[in-house]
Amino acid sequence: MSTTEQQIPPMPYLRIGLIGDPVAHSYSPRFQQAALDALAIPARYELWPTPADQVIERVRALCDRYCLGANVTIPHKQAVVPLVDKIDPLAARIGAINTIVHHDDYLHGYNTDAPGLIHALHEHGIGERQSDGFISLKGHTAILLGAGGAARGAAFALTVAGVDRLIILNRHLERAQMLAAEVQQNYDGPVFSLSDPHFLIPHSGAIIINATSVGMHEDVSPLPADVLSRFDASTFVYDMIYNPPQTRLLCQALTMGMRAANGLTMLLHQGALSFSLWTHRPAPLDVMRAALML
Ligand code: NAP
Repeated sequence: MSTTEQQIPPMPYLRIGLIGDPVAHSYSPRFQQAALDALAIPARYELWPTPADQVIERVRALCDRYCLGANVTIPHKQAVVPLVDKIDPLAARIGAINTIVHHDDYLHGYNTDAPGLIHALHEHGIGERQSDGFISLKGHTAILLGAGGAARGAAFALTVAGVDRLIILNRHLERAQMLAAEVQQNYDGPVFSLSDPHFLIPHSGAIIINATSVGMHEDVSPLPADVLSRFDASTFVYDMIYNPPQTRLLCQALTMGMRAANGLTMLLHQGALSFSLWTHRPAPLDVMRAALML
């Protein structure tokens, strides 16, 4: 080894990580690392399993000079809200952060799940992209199954995107009603809440989004087949679940001649938006897509 080589200290690598509990099952390292490598950004995307009593310490550690930020997943998306220095207005309204950016010694919180869903719908041919980049869902009725964390982000994103009306269907009616009331504060269109799917009135051009966990562990659908069959072939069915890749709901929709897709595109687009926030570079979507085998 030459003298010059001995004098150069090893270059520390930049770090981004996934904060959650558990995180081992996540697809994020696979496609985020592929994107970092493709752009020759000397950073590693790591898994940071974090029990609830270590969240404060973990978020504080993001202020390290070599840390670009983090993703946050279940169950800490709400818990990190008070731990960041600045929060994006949409994330503040949703009350959940899935992306933290370390910039100039400050931690900034964002929610990319919500716009990620809208970008995914657009990729599947739903909505019109306007000249300023805004994706409009005008002309569509959104039927949102669920009122948990993922549904919250979806409800705000869908109303911001200008759906004609939003129908929230959830097992526990009070949760649907509470979410409907929150969304209604900044939305002029009608918002309905239901717990019995049989009261659903079909609308042409409807977007049905499953944001429940029903279908993930068992081969069951969150919507009875006789209810789904009332909708016409212009209906688009999106299941946020991506593992298994084809849920019972998606099978039903495809069998009925409807267009349908699973949640991998939402995962891709939320990840691409997070990538750009950390790196200030456009995300290499094709690389990320290939890593997800989409
Ligand atoms: P969560 O906060 O625990 O909410 C679960 C939702 O599912 C609630 O609305 C709950 O209804 C409903 N539910 C659960 N079991 C049910 C059952 N047996 N019958 C009827 N409803 C039931 O979970 P989450 O974080 O919102 O996640 C929901 C799903 O979205 C998960 O499958 C997750 O993997 C997926 N997701 C995907 C992405 C992506 O990028 N593709 C991102 C985020 C989440 P109650 O309120 O009545 O209990």
